[in-house]
Amino acid sequence: MPEGDTVWQATRRLHGALAGKVLTRSDLRVPRFATADLTGRTVLDVTPRGKHLLTRIEGGLTLHSHLRMDGAWKIYTPGQRWTGGPGHQIRAILGTADRTAVGYRLPVLELLRTAEEDRAVGHLGPDLLGPDWDPDRALANLLRDPARPLGEALLDQRNLAGIGNVFKCEICFLLGVTPWLPIGELPAERAALLPGLSQKLLEANRDRPVRNTTGLRGKDLFVYGRASRPCRRCRTPVRLADQGDGSRERPTYWCPVCQTGPAPAPGTRNGRRTSAPYI
Ligand SMILES: [Zn+2]
Repeated sequence: MPEGDTVWQATRRLHGALAGKVLTRSDLRVPRFATADLTGRTVLDVTPRGKHLLTRIEGGLTLHSHLRMDGAWKIYTPGQRWTGGPGHQIRAILGTADRTAVGYRLPVLELLRTAEEDRAVGHLGPDLLGPDWDPDRALANLLRDPARPLGEALLDQRNLAGIGNVFKCEICFLLGVTPWLPIGELPAERAALLPGLSQKLLEANRDRPVRNTTGLRGKDLFVYGRASRPCRRCRTPVRLADQGDGSRERPTYWCPVCQTGPAPAPGTRNGRRTSAPYI
């Protein structure tokens, strides 16, 4: 379940392995681009945009990929065993003289003209980890639909790009409101904190192997993944319910005491995960 920080880390690894080098191997295993041959071209850079990865290649081309649920880019040295999954899950191979990048289970893989990247990522709001980060615009985007539940507004990448379900739950906890609170009902002073808080959390986790929102060692998250366990602040058992628009439900955690606002009635879910897909 990649969030902006995970994509940022993947991007940095890819950039380190490929940027400035000539491709000696190119294999895109999606029907539309199966015949594309990128060998002989230099990789210019690899850049994150929200949860999207843009690999820019000499000649005005961009390889756009998205990890969605369990996709991954792995980097191997010559002779190293590939361990990212069975061969049929490989969607892309980009090789240079000394590194091979292998993209596994990529639900989105397309070759675009760099000049047309906006077609793929132009819908995204300000990027929490990007050079175009704009807290005022992010907040204005979020408040455009005041009736929308806070949790859903935070996940909508058109508002601001980079927040996934883990950070959604943690941000709502830090704001002291439930993910079901209509965002327009968030007190103004807390709404004003929202963009900065979100950016701080993602930035703090950009280089960390284990995500941490609490600042405490060994106690990495406040509520996410902690159903029925005591709240770190008030010891009340953390609750779990699905949140979504019906097409995509995500397991959502909150403390019923520390967080005020509407929430599903207790007993609507028994602490079990559903098989619904979520990003
Ligand atoms: Zn609590």
